[in-house]
Amino acid sequence: MTIPGAWRRTARGAGLLAADGTVAASIFAEMSALAARTGAINLGQGFPNEDGPSEVLEAARAAISDGVNQYPPGRGLPVLREAIARHQHRFYGLGADPETEVLVTAGATEALAATILALLEPGDEVVTFEPFYDAYGALIALGGGVHRTVRLRAPDFQPDLDELRATVSDRTRLIIVNNPHNPTGAVFPAETLALIVQLAERHDAVIVTDEVYEHLTFGVAHIPIATIPGAGARTVTISSGGKTFNTTGWKIGWLTAPAPLVTAILAVKQFLTYVNGAPFQPAIAVGLDLPDSFYTGIAADLRFKRDVLERGLAAAGFTVSRPQGSYFIVADAAPLGYPDGADFCRALPGLAGVVAVPIAAFCSPEHRPEYASLVRFAYCKRVDVLERASEQLAGLTARA
Ligand SMILES: *Cc1c(COP(=O)(O)O)cnc(C)c1O
Repeated sequence: MTIPGAWRRTARGAGLLAADGTVAASIFAEMSALAARTGAINLGQGFPNEDGPSEVLEAARAAISDGVNQYPPGRGLPVLREAIARHQHRFYGLGADPETEVLVTAGATEALAATILALLEPGDEVVTFEPFYDAYGALIALGGGVHRTVRLRAPDFQPDLDELRATVSDRTRLIIVNNPHNPTGAVFPAETLALIVQLAERHDAVIVTDEVYEHLTFGVAHIPIATIPGAGARTVTISSGGKTFNTTGWKIGWLTAPAPLVTAILAVKQFLTYVNGAPFQPAIAVGLDLPDSFYTGIAADLRFKRDVLERGLAAAGFTVSRPQGSYFIVADAAPLGYPDGADFCRALPGLAGVVAVPIAAFCSPEHRPEYASLVRFAYCKRVDVLERASEQLAGLTARA
């Protein structure tokens, strides 16, 4: 079949189609397929293998029984928008009008897509940190933007503030922040966030912040960038129920922003999914109102899992960074004699029955060499699975 050229050029221009017209191979799909084929433990993809709170699951079942099965309103069911506003106030002291400043989306992914497509003009620059969540690069390309990055480097993956100052300019339309950070597990301190706000104000840029791991930090507080003075008027804050409630398959996300920004984003969102997940929306509202003990509990539980995998990786001979948040830990395979993380990840199911993903998959091609030997492991898995993975990894022996 021949594909009309102009149509194909668009997706190919964004780097999403390979030259032969197939979907450009993603390392995530390759590694998940490898896990399925070999039966290896999948610490590649970041999804939990335990169910979330029963109150939340039960509320979704009840909503289906109660007939919450048709299109919800375009902005989301009021019960969820109100719960999101209450959550922002309860945890962060932030005000958000559920009528005009809250938008429910098909996961954080659609919130990102609608925001970027709504606010970006072709040729505008978008600044992200690097390594970056893969959707950012694709969405910036689809929006015709020019992607500039500020590098996060091992071992702590905090940005160099001078590099940040030098990267943001009057050409910058959006600064995308992901805090806590996937894939590195870094959590940005107030000083870094304040500089981002200062630069956004100076250059009249909008801040888009992806905070899907907001409740998963270990011993450090999560500071939403919208709480920094001056940020509120120019920040789109994005989150999702997936990571907080172990419901990644439900795809209920949301954003909060000043009303004119929400309106602009809604104008795009209505033609992406329009709406989604009616019975899951009231269930996520139940989750957002769960007591503080739930929230401290999930962070403590995940911290324990991080420690299990961190010990296992260190014992196996990796140099590991210590994540302060998120689902992920970065390990350097170079001390084991593997300078190329992608090669190492392809070999790992055979060597140890474990799947991981190379950090280079989160980098632009020109910066991949800097991150070549680093790999990402997910620890959002049952403790027995992490212990078994650790035992198997302990059998790795350094290659000469
Ligand atoms: C998982 C993840 C998302 C996607 O969230 P959904 O709600 O599943 O769309 C977005 N950003 C980051 C950094 C993530 O890790």
